[in-house]
Amino acid sequence: MAKINVKTPIVEIDGDEMTRVMWKMVKEQLLLPYLDMKLEYYDLQLKNRDATDDKVTLESAEAIKKYGVGVKCATITPNKDRVKEYNLKQEWSSPNGTIRAALDGTVFRAPILVKNVLPAVRSWKKPIHIGRHAYGDVYKNCEFRVPEAGKAEITFTSSAGKELFRGTIQDFKGPGIIQGIHNTDKSIASFAKACFTYAYDQKIHLWFGAKDTISKTYDGQFKKIFEEEYQKNWKEKYEAAGLNYVFTLIDDTVARIMKSEGGLLWACKNYDGDVMSDMLGSAYGSLAMMTSVLVSPQGFYEFEASHGTVQKHYYKYLKGEKTSTNPAAIIFAWTGCLRKRGELDGTPQVVDFANKLEAAVVETIEGGVMTGDLIAVANPSPSNKQVNTEEFISEVAKRLKKKLK
Ligand code: NAP
Ligand code: MG
Repeated sequence: MAKINVKTPIVEIDGDEMTRVMWKMVKEQLLLPYLDMKLEYYDLQLKNRDATDDKVTLESAEAIKKYGVGVKCATITPNKDRVKEYNLKQEWSSPNGTIRAALDGTVFRAPILVKNVLPAVRSWKKPIHIGRHAYGDVYKNCEFRVPEAGKAEITFTSSAGKELFRGTIQDFKGPGIIQGIHNTDKSIASFAKACFTYAYDQKIHLWFGAKDTISKTYDGQFKKIFEEEYQKNWKEKYEAAGLNYVFTLIDDTVARIMKSEGGLLWACKNYDGDVMSDMLGSAYGSLAMMTSVLVSPQGFYEFEASHGTVQKHYYKYLKGEKTSTNPAAIIFAWTGCLRKRGELDGTPQVVDFANKLEAAVVETIEGGVMTGDLIAVANPSPSNKQVNTEEFISEVAKRLKKKLK
């Protein structure tokens, strides 16, 4: 069979530890035999980020801006232990943070659903995607311990030096705490645009919840900017596609999510997204069944698995032991990237390949062939069989080959 041609180069961002090991297997056994693709390769393994003074990370983000679509392996975010382990020049910052800042993107996550791993919530039939605003709020706060009685105020001075407002936070009668948080219209607007774009692309409804009844100005501004973006750029398109945009209070959203059947994007403010994405991940069964994509307001895409480098499994692998690490989210990062590339290039054969590879993964798991993380949560069945990573990938390869005949 002739290889399928991928028209535009794909930005490939390699990473660390167990995910790097699986990355290579996936490429060699599931992709390169069938695809004729040019890869713009950036090696973000920690040693190389250190050797290049982290320039390679910025270069990879620039490459995504140039070619439009990239796929990224998980990478180590160094802490003190890693600085020692890899003898680093310094504690480099998170590559994901660097790339996100360069692309001004929003991260969307979605579970990979299989019939024999049921979500913890019975009504969920279709994926619930989550979009987390990754800027501001408590993550960029200014907070103080109040040691004694006194008055806490908040002020704003314009760059021209004029005090424009001053408000009392609290007249303290004794010790306590205070916190100042912020967001910007620009960042909220990018977030809104990314959410409307993503939900429209995926043909799913968009729900956004905040607490504008209590936080009339702060959360109220989120609501207002989302509404303006909807009215200006999306209302007609959404109506024509039969999609809804719904704004409700965050507590109402949570209650509705528990009763919904899924098939929607849940847009979350930063803190809500931090908390709720972990809840969704565990409710759907396994960290290794969660995909992630960074979407920039200019329409650049970076696909990845949402889990980390699976360090514990890697140390076993280094000792020569076989590990049963699940490569599903890595495979789906590649298929997400290829599908998007195919859509942008107008090459349906590439989209078709991505669909078939995803189906091969799902059928492997539904056929009972699973890695350890899934065996532990799957419906019990005599045909369930735990396999190691290599065995899992070759089972997927077998099914893929049949589909491509
Ligand atoms: P992790 O790599 O996500 O792994 C946490 C645990 O989840 C694993 O020990 C394993 O549990 C389970 N797990 C995760 N992925 C799995 C898979 N594919 N198959 C089977 N089990 C899986 O998180 P971490 O151990 O906290 O972080 C390790 C490194 O990854 C850190 O250096 C961190 O900086 C980095 N990280 C990178 C990214 C990214 O690049 N996107 C994201 C998060 C973390 P069991 O051990 O119980 O089997
Ligand atoms: Mg979290």
